[in-house]
Amino acid sequence: LVPILLHFILVAATPYSTLPSVLLVGPSGAGKTALLTLFERGPLATHTQQQHHNDEKQQQPNNTAVALTHTSQTPATVELAVSDDGASSFRDDLDAAGSAHKKFLLVDTPGHAKLRRHALARIQGTSAASSTAAVATTSSSSDSSSSSKSKVKAVVFVVDAAALADGDALPETAGYLYEVLLSLQKRMGAGKGSRAPASVPVLVAANKLDLFTALPAALVRSNLEAELGRIRRTRSRGLLDSGVGADDDVAAAGGAAGDENDDWLGEYGSDKFSFKQMLEFDIEVDVIGGNVIGEGPGADRWWRWIAERI
Ligand code: GDP
Repeated sequence: LVPILLHFILVAATPYSTLPSVLLVGPSGAGKTALLTLFERGPLATHTQQQHHNDEKQQQPNNTAVALTHTSQTPATVELAVSDDGASSFRDDLDAAGSAHKKFLLVDTPGHAKLRRHALARIQGTSAASSTAAVATTSSSSDSSSSSKSKVKAVVFVVDAAALADGDALPETAGYLYEVLLSLQKRMGAGKGSRAPASVPVLVAANKLDLFTALPAALVRSNLEAELGRIRRTRSRGLLDSGVGADDDVAAAGGAAGDENDDWLGEYGSDKFSFKQMLEFDIEVDVIGGNVIGEGPGADRWWRWIAERI
């Protein structure tokens, strides 16, 4: 009996070989797929060069040329690795270098407004400390195929800093970011009573800083904060109109109406929105500029941000 019991204990204790994941979220055209491809090709590019000089090594490259035939309609996932100290570059092939590393999944999500529920479902799914991540190597793969349980460690919300400069893209981008942040906020609230869910930090990656028309990261931050505040006010007006005493101010209404403040992002009743208010829900939000294509600060700071959170 003892060996049988032991066997069951061992089987039960064997952890699923699922990797933590980082979600790439954001409106269409922001550069999510370009970023995923850059991070995916990093080790491959290095490896190809090394093989040139080192032909006797008949070893297959680690991520054998997975061509990303990916349209932004389909979520795609790549497996990446950071060194244990988080100091490696996405250009390093850590397998080949034999250095200790942690693997994770980078999951691209569709940016089109009608398909955003995929990303939001993944974020909300994390309330059970896990979500479904499909490793899709072809465009025909979908969420349901070869799915595995994966814990979302962080969200990278990619924005087009050049598109934000002319103002038209701001309401759409901020609208999506509002949904993402609110999902994360609700997820934290849902953990009441039992253990609080692990917090999921958000990186707003202000992309396309190679373009001289792009807004610098500080302006991307303040413009998004102002627009998120506007969205919050508009939404709360609906809340006030729908029956909560018209004379009450917003904070009093929330206090009296219990769950009414569920859809309020950040510090309840505050006049201006700022990303710092998300800390109240243990959600860290950083805004960092960079670019995938062209001359500029590049993608290294984003990579480091991710590496520190894996
Ligand atoms: P997605 O819809 O968010 O996946 O966006 P894509 O990755 O398909 O990129 C949309 C377009 O922006 C493509 O034409 C990319 O080449 C371009 N793009 C992506 N990153 C950059 C960047 O850093 N600078 C510039 N100038 N263009 C970029």
